[in-house]
Amino acid sequence: MYGPNTVAARRMFKRAVIQGGLEAVSLLSKAGLMPGARGMGAIFTLHHVRPAAHKDFDPVAHLTVTPEFLDQSITKLKADGHTPVALEDLPAFLANPDQTGPAMVFTLDDGYRDNDMHARPVFEKHGVPYTIFVSGGFVDRTHSIWWETAEHLIGQSDEFTFDYGSGEVCLPTRTLIEKYAAFDCLHKALACSHQDSIVARLDAMARASGISPTGIVDREVMDENELRKLAATPLARLGAHTIGHLNLAHLAADQMRSEIVRSSERIAEITGEKPQTLAYPYGDRCAAGPREYQAAEDLGFKLAVTTNPGVLHREDLLQRFALRRISLNGYYQKRRYVGALASGIPFALV
Ligand SMILES: [Zn+2]
Repeated sequence: MYGPNTVAARRMFKRAVIQGGLEAVSLLSKAGLMPGARGMGAIFTLHHVRPAAHKDFDPVAHLTVTPEFLDQSITKLKADGHTPVALEDLPAFLANPDQTGPAMVFTLDDGYRDNDMHARPVFEKHGVPYTIFVSGGFVDRTHSIWWETAEHLIGQSDEFTFDYGSGEVCLPTRTLIEKYAAFDCLHKALACSHQDSIVARLDAMARASGISPTGIVDREVMDENELRKLAATPLARLGAHTIGHLNLAHLAADQMRSEIVRSSERIAEITGEKPQTLAYPYGDRCAAGPREYQAAEDLGFKLAVTTNPGVLHREDLLQRFALRRISLNGYYQKRRYVGALASGIPFALV
């Protein structure tokens, strides 16, 4: 059992180690001491792209970057010789012996409205293609986004009494440290097989406190018409991200496959074409493994992406359903970090 201070300390420690790694790698690469580290390039992950807004309690700050940082990142990557490549064109790029890399591939998860408002103009200015991974349940407002719901609920509460599956636990959430600890506790509990029932309980609690979980989705996520319009622009593509945004590795096999198939069909209704790409929700080793990689292949996708950090190599052609990505992370929004992030090295430290 960890107390709130321990949890907060671990969060800060991990961030400090990565930040230290970014500074170190940034310095070393400036000195020409990191040759070859960037491999064949990288697939970058973004979520929200919007102007900075100061919030005291911001448990998912890492999921937001500013349009200026995105602009600076692309400028820096281009200057470092990265070629923009659309995600579905990546296998051809890696297979082409004339391409020595590095590629830069941009992906944005969850279909936030700010992607159209703030990221699209940046991508269009630079002529960079991008793929937005959308969850059908968010598009249709049938599913909530638990981390957004929790941010609102814990943010306004002085205590958080919640049943994670084995009876109610009451956590104080008066101070910021306590709020972060309660959020982390919920986050951990959700990496289990009862994720949908935990989210349902969270939603009910939020509604009882005057918060509408699907209202948040309606405010934050693009609807069908907006997605259709965006997908018709030359640089935007849509990829599958399931229906309910559940941890696939914890679902029964038929439910896991149904989540993927239905999300592919839902996108086909919007764009007229089945998506060629899939992003596993959460995407780390706890959320997707060999069973999910095989399903993505069997269900006809060209490739699928995880959130396991790492750069691209030609050998990735052999593991097209477990491609690694690098998060363009809200905690590390400094221009000099981008080249270091693209090396993937700082993530090997934690
Ligand atoms: Zn997602």
